[in-house]
Order: sequence, then C-alpha cells, then structure tokens
Amino acid sequence: EVAMEAEEHIFRSKHPSVPVPESLTLPGFVLAGAEEYADKVALVEAGGDSGGKTLTYGEVARDTRRFAWALRSFGLRKGHVVVVALPNLAIYPVVALGIMEAGGVFSGVNPLATPAEIRKQVEDSEAKLIVADATTYRKVTELGIPIIYIGEENPINGGISWDELLEASERAGPTTAMEEEEDQKLEQSDVCALPYSSGTTGSSKGVMLTHRNLIANLCSSLFSVPPEMQGQVTILGLMPFFHIYGITGICCAALRNKGRVVVLRRFELRGFLQALIHHEVTFAPIVPPIMLAMVKNPVVDEFDLGGLKLRSVMTAAAPLAPELRAAFEEKFPGVEVQEAYGLTEHSCITLTHCDPRKGHRNAKKHSVGFILPNIEVKFIDPESGQSFSKNMPGELCVRSECVMQGYFKNKEETNRTVDQDGWLHTGDIGYIDDDGDVFIVDRIKELIKYKGFQVAPAELEAILLAHPSVVDAAVFALPDEEAGEIPAACVVKKSGVNETEEDIMRFIASNVASYKKVRVVRFLNSIPKSPSGKILRRLLKDSFNYIQQQ
Ligand code: AMP
Repeated sequence: EVAMEAEEHIFRSKHPSVPVPESLTLPGFVLAGAEEYADKVALVEAGGDSGGKTLTYGEVARDTRRFAWALRSFGLRKGHVVVVALPNLAIYPVVALGIMEAGGVFSGVNPLATPAEIRKQVEDSEAKLIVADATTYRKVTELGIPIIYIGEENPINGGISWDELLEASERAGPTTAMEEEEDQKLEQSDVCALPYSSGTTGSSKGVMLTHRNLIANLCSSLFSVPPEMQGQVTILGLMPFFHIYGITGICCAALRNKGRVVVLRRFELRGFLQALIHHEVTFAPIVPPIMLAMVKNPVVDEFDLGGLKLRSVMTAAAPLAPELRAAFEEKFPGVEVQEAYGLTEHSCITLTHCDPRKGHRNAKKHSVGFILPNIEVKFIDPESGQSFSKNMPGELCVRSECVMQGYFKNKEETNRTVDQDGWLHTGDIGYIDDDGDVFIVDRIKELIKYKGFQVAPAELEAILLAHPSVVDAAVFALPDEEAGEIPAACVVKKSGVNETEEDIMRFIASNVASYKKVRVVRFLNSIPKSPSGKILRRLLKDSFNYIQQQ
C-alpha cells in the first residue's frame, strides 16, 4: 500500500515579494533618513498633562543615540531586558529604539497593570532595568531593579532621571563601542523586543522578536505606500505603545515613512475628536469599541466634523461587526474604513485591507484583508493538520520572516505554536476566497479580547482558585456590543460558604488591571471538562448565551 501524501494548500500574496534589507538593525532601519529631515516633527502629544510636547526627527535620532550610550555606560549588555512602564508619550518610541540600539530587549508593560502584574513581567523577563513616569513609578519602586524616571522632578529615591541621564551621556559620548567587542556586535537575528502575549493557551508569555522579524514586518506592511504619500500621513498614536500594534504598526511604520504621530494617552471621546481636528490627523488606527463611540455617542454632534482631515480609519485587534462598519460609513461618508489582522507572535500585521496604489483594489468589505507580500498562509483542520483549499474555513497558519523566535523560556508552548516547518498556528479560524481575500470567522484559542486588550483566562482562573471559598473555576469570553468580548466566569464554591457573585467579581477586580475584570459570574456544581481535563470553554460560553436568550 502506498500512502498518498495529501496535497498542501498554501496561499501566497498576489503581490510580488519585497526586499528586506540585510544589514540594518531596527532603529537603523526606522531612523534611516531622520538626519535628512531633522527639523520635521515626528511626534506630538495631544492634550494630557504635558500636552503639546513635540519631538522632531532630529531629536528622535539624537535622543535614541544618547539613551543607547547611557544604557551601555550603565552596564547594559546585549540581550538584557528593559521593562517600559509608560503610557503613550512622545518619547516612548525613543525609549524603545534606544534600548534596542544598545543591544537590549524592549519589553513594554501595560501602564494600567497592577504592581503584582508588573512584577510578574519583570521577574519572568529577568529585566535589569525599568522605565517609569509619574503615572507608574509608585507601582515599580519595590522591584529591586534600577528605575529610570521620565518627567520633570524625579520623585524616586535613588531613581535615575531621564534628562540627567541623557545630558551626561551626551557629555561623555559613546562609551563602550559595541563594534569593538566581538560578542556585543548586533545582528539582525538578535532578539530586540519581548512583548507579552498569552498566545493560544495559558498565561502571558514573552514573545521573542528579532530586529529581522520587525524589519520584515515593516517591509511587508509598507509595501503599498506610494512614494508621493511618504511624509504626507499624520497618524493617530492612540493604540497602546506597549503593544506591538502601537510600537511597530504605528510608531515604527510612521517614523520609517517620514510621517507625523499624534500621541494620545488614553481614549476619551472629546479629547480624541479634538486631537483629530486640531492636529489634522489623516489616518487613525483604532479598535472597534472606539468606532462604536464615534457612531453612537451624542458628544460627536458637538463637533464640527467639517474640520476633519481624516481620510481613513483602520480597525484591528478584534472583529469588526458589519453593522458597525455600515453605521460608521453613513456618519463619516468621506472616511475610508480599512481592516487589518495581526498578532504579537507575527510581529504585528499579517493581512491588510488596503492597497492605495493606482490600479489596485482594496480587499472586500468584511474581509480582514489580503496576504501581505513575503507572507504565506494556510487554513488547516486543527486536529489532523490537513490543509484546506479556498473557501473552506480552518485554523489560520502563517509562515514568514516575521514569525517569532518562540516564547521566552517556554519550549513547550513554542513547539505547540510554531511547528517544525515554521508555521505559526494562530488559533483563529478563517478562509480565503477566490479573489485572495481572507475572512476571520471564529477564534478557537482561549484568549479573550476586551476592547482589543488581551485577557488570558488561565490568569484569572489562577486568581479565582486562590480564593478560599472557590473549589474550581473557568473563565471564558461572552460577546458584548461595546467591548467586543467580556470575561465571564463559572465558579464552583465550597459547600456552606455564602459568597455572592458580586463578592467574587470584587475579589478579581482587586487583583487585576481594570480591563481584565470578570464582568459576569455564575455558580455551578461542576466545571465541564474533557476526559483529558481541559475546560470546555466553548460549551460554557454557548450554554451561557443560550440561557441569556431565554
Ligand atoms: P494580539 O497578539 O494582542 O495582537 O492579538 C492577536 C489576536 O487578536 C488574533 O490572533 C485574533 O484573535 C485577534 N485579531 C486581531 N486582528 C483581528 C481582526 N482584524 N479581526 C478579528 N480578530 C482579530
């Protein structure tokens, strides 16, 4: 008997491959032309306490260099991790690029994280340093590693002031010439970023991304920007910079492209609309809940939308409901809606909706986009691994130079996620149609996305199980119009205890950043599990929805 080898259905971009430079580091690539347009504004803060802070390209390049020197003279060596606990600030990309230029590894943490959540990331990543500001420093003073403080008056005893650090660095000049030490020379294959993601299962893990991974992603995503659009885009920097969407997809892409980033710390509808109008933003990457606010909130009607220079919005990070898209198009007729799909493990963007070049078409409405150049995808049966042909939904797998090196110190999860042939298994279900447009229809991984933020059920379950009255618990996603999804929990109580659902919700809330709060709790006698002990989250979710509809 001859075993028939099943045919592999691999889909490639319909666009020709694009070259990826071989020799540059990520900061070198991003700031390649910065000195030529040194006076052009690169980043400007909209509103906020230190509102109006502006950085030119010249300043970005200079301060990135100064910070890198400072870190080296401070003893930072290749591969050392620096955790960055900052909100979106104009200086943020300088901090991230400076760490990378010094040979370090940038690991952003959500500035809203609790002290315990920050500690977890600092300990797991074995960070040597942490960067904080007035909004986060109180949460990082007990970590036992040096703190660099960004802001006017350094309130931290023993903390290092950013301004003083950079001035001293400028005076001293380049200290340790990295090129002179063989083991300190930077290669594109060196890890330079360690964002945290829960991936398909379990709690948050460090995602190892190299200079090469990120440069490759930028080359793929910028392939369609025509030369005449270089330097013409004013992009909104509202998506969190600690997340790969913010730092790569927005900051690095904009800086590489001579764009201007309007930096916004947090979403508040009035401030958001003011920033769009006042700074003449032309391109706003957002998430669906923000689009919902733009459509539904009456505050919008207080503004003269005629002053908007907005040409397009892009939603990513979570599915966009067709009804929401339609309502937006009606309210903002001149603004094009694009979608994009990506994930941290793929250095950010993977599929995109928009091709602005003449003679090329965008992907269809409701599709998340077409395959970017240099990227391969397939759709498989998650059980058998068999790949499907067009129009058949399966687990989306991606292969390219953007695929992560693996999860930090976690071979098991790495091997589960990236197979021997280099395919990244995304945990998302989708299909590709006859025109090469991709549709995402479901998510089979545990991950919950609350307003685009990652919430890992395993993390919340661990907290629930630490409650003295809880015997067993399962956390899963419920659909929600505003947030996309909300975390819900089924809990088995010890017999005889009298905690209420509200008590359980308060307990969780006091232990996690607010976006991770469990918003629905129900008590059960037992948690449904597979014979191998896996929680049947899908079953819980479906039965919950069923009961709610009754
Ligand atoms: P993250 O690593 O935080 O960027 O999360 C990546 C995950 O977000 C993906 O695996 C998807 O589940 C989800 N996601 C990202 N973009 C989209 C999109 N356009 N439509 C639906 N889901 C998305």
